[in-house]
Amino acid sequence: MTGSPSSARLSTAEIIAVGTELLTPFRSDTNSLFVTARLNELGIVVRRKSIVGDDAVDLGRAVRDALDRADLLVVCGGLGPTDDDLTRETVAAVLGRALREDPSIVEHLRTRFAARKWTMPENNRRQASVPDEAVVLDNPRGTAPGLWLETGDRVVVLLPGPPRELEPMFTALAHTRLASRAAPERLYRRVLRVTGRGESHVEEMTQRVYDRWRQVDPPVGTTVLASPGLVELHLSTRAASREAALGVLDAATGELAAVLGNHLFSTDGRSLSEVVGELLQRDGFRVAVGESCTGGLVTARLVDIPGSSSYVETGVVAYSNEVKRRVLGVDPELLTTEGAVSEAVAVAMAEGARRVGATDIGIGVTGVAGPGGGSDEKPVGTVCVGVVGPGSEQEARTAQFPGDRAMIRRLATQTALDLLRRVLLRRTRERATVRGG
Ligand code: AMP
Ligand code: MG
Repeated sequence: MTGSPSSARLSTAEIIAVGTELLTPFRSDTNSLFVTARLNELGIVVRRKSIVGDDAVDLGRAVRDALDRADLLVVCGGLGPTDDDLTRETVAAVLGRALREDPSIVEHLRTRFAARKWTMPENNRRQASVPDEAVVLDNPRGTAPGLWLETGDRVVVLLPGPPRELEPMFTALAHTRLASRAAPERLYRRVLRVTGRGESHVEEMTQRVYDRWRQVDPPVGTTVLASPGLVELHLSTRAASREAALGVLDAATGELAAVLGNHLFSTDGRSLSEVVGELLQRDGFRVAVGESCTGGLVTARLVDIPGSSSYVETGVVAYSNEVKRRVLGVDPELLTTEGAVSEAVAVAMAEGARRVGATDIGIGVTGVAGPGGGSDEKPVGTVCVGVVGPGSEQEARTAQFPGDRAMIRRLATQTALDLLRRVLLRRTRERATVRGG
């Protein structure tokens, strides 16, 4: 299986994360995410990942299985000096390679320890043992060198577990050996962000479009990632030509945009707060927020964006009815007749915030975040949002959210930002109509 190095192209990869701690609730495998991102940049697709404990039998089996399937296997972790670190020995055994101590690595390790006025513990010598025909990968940040091994047309890379050691080592490798073995195809992606519709509804709207784009050349794959208040469609395609890839992604994005309409808010990585910020800036509007159940989250999301000082004036947390009255000027009559959680009060809070901030636009949010405080008429999860301005425009919406307090507050925040976005977008359309007509 050994001999002169292969130049066969690497297109598929598997990743094995090694460490018993990764099978506990206390530590998660993040290295594979980093490795996947770098591999994808090279057009190498990760087909499977696994996590195995510090166990030679489990690891040996995982390595053999992965080598049956993938061109490239990346193993992270288990290169430490202690007895539970088994990756080097196990992979050498699977590949049938003898291990030999590399005196230059021993010397390097001794120097590293000496620089700290320590003597090297004998067990660190294990990190100097190198399987036959392996290439040693430098580790400037730690003692465990990485290893590059070839077996026939396949490649196995062993990397140290600590992310601060693995990351620079793997980045260097991605620019050198891996780049020269990667196929000419590269992976291109586009992320479409949708709000105001749930995952299954988005799927229903878009299914027919993806089914068709899966059949084109190069084919466009889609995955859907949903989180509270946000559905992301990830389109990807793999092609040797950048133009061909961007061509199909642009065309598929255009068709999805047509079926998603206003629910689609971003196709270029921008967040909802960025999109809202850009719309406010475009029109030169400033905004003030009056929020109750979200307790400042709406304002916080707006000011997450650098440069938001040019459009955010103030945020008032009016949690008690007293402050809704006294600071935001909400009519006490309204609070009694409509209730604190009502569209009328959300609009009045928005109006009050606009007055306090002397802005063009005001946002108001009021709701029942729970777990207590719900009623038959207004159960936990009832949220009202209102937007007033510019001028005499006003818009309100009532939503009924599922989930716990944190989720309800997050969804309320997203809904308030989205209502503002829709109000600002409508202006775009109206302006276009006026100009066109
Ligand atoms: P090792 O190379 O197995 O000695 O790993 C040393 C340390 O690196 C572990 O204790 C973890 O804290 C960290 N580590 C190992 N594998 C991973 C991984 N897949 N993702 C994130 N951290 C890891
Ligand atoms: Mg370990």
